[in-house]
Amino acid sequence: MHIEVTGADASHSSISESDEFLREVLRDAELPALLPALAQATGDLRLIARHLRPPLAVSPTVPAQGGMSEEMQSEARDLAFEALVQLREQGPTPLELDEATLTSLLEFITGPVDPAYVPMLRHELGVPPEIGNPTWSATELAGSDAQGFSVLVIGAGMSGLAVSHRLKQAGVPVTVLEKNDDVGGTWLENDYPGCRLDTSNFGYSYSFAQTPEWKWQYSAQDSIIGYFRTVTERLGLREDIKFGTTVDSMTWDEASGTWTVKGQGPDGPVEYTANAVVSAVGQLNKPSIPTIPGQETFAGEAFHTAQWRHDVELRGKNIAVIGTGASAFQVVPEMAKVGGHVGVYQRTPPWMLPAPDYKQPIKGAMSWLLRHVPYYHRWYRFFQFWATVEGRRPYVQVDPAWDHPVSVSEKNEELRQVVQSYIETEFADRPDLLPHVIPNYPPGGKRMLRDDGSWAAALHSDHVDLVTERITGIEPEGIRTADGVLHPTDVIVYGTGFKASDFLEPMTVVGRDGVDLHEQWGGNAKAYLGVLTPGFPNLFMLYGPNTNLVVNGSIILMAECSVDYTLACLKELVEKDAASIEVREDVFEAFNDEIDAANDKMAWGSPRVSSWYKNAFGRVSQNWPLPLLEYFTRTRALNPDDVVVTGKNEEA
Ligand code: NAP
Repeated sequence: MHIEVTGADASHSSISESDEFLREVLRDAELPALLPALAQATGDLRLIARHLRPPLAVSPTVPAQGGMSEEMQSEARDLAFEALVQLREQGPTPLELDEATLTSLLEFITGPVDPAYVPMLRHELGVPPEIGNPTWSATELAGSDAQGFSVLVIGAGMSGLAVSHRLKQAGVPVTVLEKNDDVGGTWLENDYPGCRLDTSNFGYSYSFAQTPEWKWQYSAQDSIIGYFRTVTERLGLREDIKFGTTVDSMTWDEASGTWTVKGQGPDGPVEYTANAVVSAVGQLNKPSIPTIPGQETFAGEAFHTAQWRHDVELRGKNIAVIGTGASAFQVVPEMAKVGGHVGVYQRTPPWMLPAPDYKQPIKGAMSWLLRHVPYYHRWYRFFQFWATVEGRRPYVQVDPAWDHPVSVSEKNEELRQVVQSYIETEFADRPDLLPHVIPNYPPGGKRMLRDDGSWAAALHSDHVDLVTERITGIEPEGIRTADGVLHPTDVIVYGTGFKASDFLEPMTVVGRDGVDLHEQWGGNAKAYLGVLTPGFPNLFMLYGPNTNLVVNGSIILMAECSVDYTLACLKELVEKDAASIEVREDVFEAFNDEIDAANDKMAWGSPRVSSWYKNAFGRVSQNWPLPLLEYFTRTRALNPDDVVVTGKNEEA
């Protein structure tokens, strides 16, 4: 599906519809976002009067209309109607966004907020001047020397596209090497049936490429790919991407201050040299298929969710889905529609978040408003962002004094009761299943999965069996479990996740003094701010170690922050005409100590939880445990005390 990314609010259609129509569409409006949008478009500040402010109390789930009462909603709709009529009669008369006006608009949604948040809020709303847009240009800083400075990006997924856009804005020559034949990374590869976002896609969009055109609250994979393709074309990024090119190795050359990158292109071996390399290879693209005795003898087809075999006939077949994580959770209901029998092999049940509209398109009235009210899509995105910015974070923090076999704090227990009662309702008529579908680890320990009832409906089906016995082997005819039962199987789907903690593998990365990155890490990847690792100058990682989010915020914002920090480092190199920049060992160590200590205090750090968030050492290697604001703030600028910058012809 094609998603048009307008970004420009001026492109909104003008309003010509009747009063009745306008009253009608307001019934389905998301008022907390519509009011500041209309205030901005018309200048009528009554729309953001204090008494209409949505309460939006921190709670396990975001309340409808931000918790606005019926009376508030009724008054808000009347004012919004007047504003729509004004837009129809006079067109937009936008507010001048001085600091005070912007603050009053922002605070309509956020309430009084710590001023430290304001830059992040501006960033997410996309208020000019655009935060993240480099205020420097390579040519201005280095004149004709800038042409000699180049950056190589590995990967044209969500992060790679973001960094190549910012590099282009800064006038830095960039080449992107992408192993696939198109952009989109994990969203290109994961095209299994049922694949869709499990966070709102207004939030899952770049701050610099916002769009009113989303057709779903939680888009299916093809819409997301459509979005990335449109962004690529609109920002002119495709011309710099070498598709079908896999990187095998990169080696730092101290003398020239460059990386030599070798790999395989569509026409054979390729070699590139660049001053800096940005790894944007993602965390979730190396499928993990467990070793199970006898699996090579299986007579049917077997494949991973991320390597879906669209050529395999599933209709009427005996299908086994191994795993009940985010991918399997979406696949199983689809398999139930086509399979003759479906076995769901569960080791650990998932916690679910009720989302009744999960697969519903955005209502027509709401879509109309998004396309006709200037700024509405921005405020809608912003409202969704704010509702989850620190969102459920307080609910997943560990209270060491809390004593409970499952939950990790009083608030976590509150969340547990909400999500457990949802599961109990869904499986109320199946006492045989109930004990198997209630998790015994704290909610937030693993990703909580959006559910519109499809999971329970699938497991209720006569031809679907939840298998909780341990898998002991695979035989030509099927799967054997610990109780000795052989489950006849035609097709095995491995929904068994990814080797997420194998950062940058299988590439060989050789840094200063010939040190191999994977030997240095020893399977325990760490970085400073997820971006820099000592001994590997001018190598930057996006969505690197400890930058994944579990219950709050947006992973796109995290990637944009890593990009901003990378650009700040590159600016230092260009401006100083330096050879290399590298994080200081003590800064790196102190940072990782801080992150480890903070992860230990989160539900996902609990010893009771095992997940892809932890590496083989049991260390949480994937997640960012601090407030989102911390990452935003720390990535705004380069602190010269954190790094060693080496001049050309200078010993490191
Ligand atoms: P995952 O969350 O790691 O789930 C893997 C599943 O396989 C788990 O249920 C795991 O059980 C099971 N498993 C692993 N090895 C097994 C074995 N040897 N025997 C039996 N079961 C085994 O992987 P995923 O579902 O692919 O999701 C990974 C991440 O991708 C998600 O957390 C999310 O961040 C992202 N994702 C996002 C979306 C979306 O936005 N819509 C969709 C899919 C994925 P245990 O829990 O017991 O280990």
